[in-house]
Amino acid sequence: MIAGMTDGATLLCGKSVAENVYAECTAAIADLNQKRGRPPGLAFVLVGENPASQVYVGRKQKVSERLGISGQIIRLAADVSEAKLLECIDGLNQDAQIDGILVQQPLPAQIDATRIVRAVDPAKDVDGFHPANLGALAAGLATGFRACTPLGIMRLLDSAAIPLRGRQATVVGRSLIVGRPISYMLINAGATVTVCNSATDLQLLNQACRAADILVVAAGRPALIGADMVKPSAAVVDVGINRDSAGKLCGDVDFEAVRSRVAHITPVPGGVGPMTVAMLMANTVAAAGRAAKS
Ligand code: NAD
Repeated sequence: MIAGMTDGATLLCGKSVAENVYAECTAAIADLNQKRGRPPGLAFVLVGENPASQVYVGRKQKVSERLGISGQIIRLAADVSEAKLLECIDGLNQDAQIDGILVQQPLPAQIDATRIVRAVDPAKDVDGFHPANLGALAAGLATGFRACTPLGIMRLLDSAAIPLRGRQATVVGRSLIVGRPISYMLINAGATVTVCNSATDLQLLNQACRAADILVVAAGRPALIGADMVKPSAAVVDVGINRDSAGKLCGDVDFEAVRSRVAHITPVPGGVGPMTVAMLMANTVAAAGRAAKS
């Protein structure tokens, strides 16, 4: 259910849509418990003491516990070697009790994050970051795992029955975890997609944003999108997580200025963030379901 109207736009409320995803997960987990005699197993690999990473992993583990997923946090020291981390991932790849593996990023400088992403068994890559999974998405295949944040955005758009086929979508940001995968998902859904990045000419960025029926912003730049950069009928999805000058959490969109000018908008917090966690749980349940069949 969509959480109601704001001043102008309808709020796309990730919190309530996430609860629908959790209800589906709970039913699937009960089914898996019956078939396999054990819940899905999810391993979180946490390297070092990064406070934000600790909060993110703690939050994800709490949700997994609530759903009855067996969540296990593996803590490694900040100065752990790449070889040791690869060994840990290999162990989890071989472990039949583990259905999903999440290596929390960012990783310390001595570790090549690309090597780590590639070391995770694609069948346990519930973050959807492995090139095999991103490649399957880009190829338009239904196989593999999709990155959680873009998958959550698609679910949020679907929950509000926002049409995608034949619509103009603009994505601001081209990262491997948000910008690129959401672009492929929108392409696969039949949208006409423009992808912008930090090198995009400002005038072109303005034009592309104003033309968008669906505007997804994942740049990590507070107030990048103002009221003069949106189409009145647009659905605006704000992925950014920033702190404003007063230390308050904010997205990449000037929410107060934009909310009265568009048709749909996600709040920060409470929009995309809860969907990311929910889709991680959905991917873990899917991984366990596939493992049960193989
Ligand atoms: P990133 O730094 O890897 O990528 C940012 C992208 O934005 C780059 O492609 C860059 O070229 C582009 N960009 C930067 N400034 C721009 C500008 N002025 N104009 C156009 N493009 C610009 O970041 P990321 O990992 O994709 O994350 C983006 C934001 O989303 C961050 O604030 C991050 O914290 C947040 N995030 C939120 C969630 C969630 O669950 N809500 C999940 C992942 C990331």
